Amino acid sequence: MADPLHHVIIGSGSAGFGAAATLRENDPDCRISMITMDSLPFYNRYDLPRIFRGCTDWHELLAVPPAYYSENRITLRRHNKVVDVDGKTQQIRLAHQEVIHFDSLLVCAGGRAYLPETLIDSAPLMHGFGSYEAAMRLYRDLPENGHAVMIGGDMIGIDLALTLLDTGRRVTLVTNAQTFWPHEPDDELRAQLLQALARRGIEVVQDARPATVTTPEGAERGRVVAFEDGTTMTADVVIPSCGLVPMVEFMLNAGVDIERGLLVTPELGTTHPHIWAAGDVCQIWNDEEKAYKFYHGWKNVRVMGELAARNIKGAHEIFDVKVEDRIEVDDQGNIHSTFWTH
Ligand SMILES: Cc1cc2nc3c(=O)[nH]c(=O)nc-3n(C[C@H](O)[C@H](O)[C@H](O)COP(=O)(O)OP(=O)(O)OC[C@H]3O[C@@H](n4cnc5c(N)ncnc54)[C@H](O)[C@@H]3O)c2cc1C
Repeated sequence: MADPLHHVIIGSGSAGFGAAATLRENDPDCRISMITMDSLPFYNRYDLPRIFRGCTDWHELLAVPPAYYSENRITLRRHNKVVDVDGKTQQIRLAHQEVIHFDSLLVCAGGRAYLPETLIDSAPLMHGFGSYEAAMRLYRDLPENGHAVMIGGDMIGIDLALTLLDTGRRVTLVTNAQTFWPHEPDDELRAQLLQALARRGIEVVQDARPATVTTPEGAERGRVVAFEDGTTMTADVVIPSCGLVPMVEFMLNAGVDIERGLLVTPELGTTHPHIWAAGDVCQIWNDEEKAYKFYHGWKNVRVMGELAARNIKGAHEIFDVKVEDRIEVDDQGNIHSTFWTH
């Protein structure tokens, strides 16, 4: 009897998890390996602000119990980093040098936080929010009544900022081009949105460009943000929140086309017949606009993961690029965004 097909998935986020579950539903016999740099099994990242409402136990954040993986014969390899994909030999190489062969590869590597170039040297002194560990570090370093400076304010950050306010913290938002990412509101709507945030209690600072983040002289805690105009601001933590950039570095030898993300057809196939991509890592061809576009957000990436899995198994489904992208302020001053709809 021939060996069962080995489907390898890079990433255990919404897209990767949805794909693994769908592959198993469609094929009881195949081998499924899910490789992730994460230390925890799949949890919904949009739940991370709950930590500030007291939900600090990671067990409560998991989307499915850990036994789900063994029950469904999905080999979940945590703390494993893929450093290279060789499209010719259909092999991936892990950081510890192990090599794994794949019959199909689905890349669901997501994105990492984007940082404006001027702030890259300050990265170690800032508090990210992209993982459970990062969120817990922020929770530990930002006391109740503490002060957070948020740079940018993408929709992930705005959600966090509103939770921080609700839980007794002070938030200063330093806006930039990525404020409200992935939405791109026009000037009028942007002004309304910023006004709504200010009414909620967020201190909004516009037209100020942060240059460095340092620790106050002689102090062990706290941060000082220095702006290009020479002014400074002190805080307990500084949170960069400037959107995401796709994680594609390990795909450079894969023989697939890359622009900013991995370029895929509406069926989510790359230019390599055995490699697929789904989620925040890919740009999908939009035939109407004649361009490859990102479709960020939990609802879209989950659909992509499941769809890619069915197509790997022989279907020819197409991702519907007509997804709703809307942000608005209601009469009570509350912000509504399709990005926040779960
Ligand atoms: C804090 C937070 C809040 C959010 N809130 C919302 C929200 O309210 N609404 C919404 O729609 N979206 C929200 N998002 C965004 C949404 O979660 C993302 O669109 C979604 O997580 C992307 O899913 P993904 O599967 O493409 O990638 P991710 O969830 O980013 O997963 C990427 C996976 O790839 C793995 N990986 C990457 N590189 C490698 C490598 N080299 N080797 C091995 N593994 C690798 C990572 O370890 C991870 O498991 C939020 C995101 C965050 C971080």
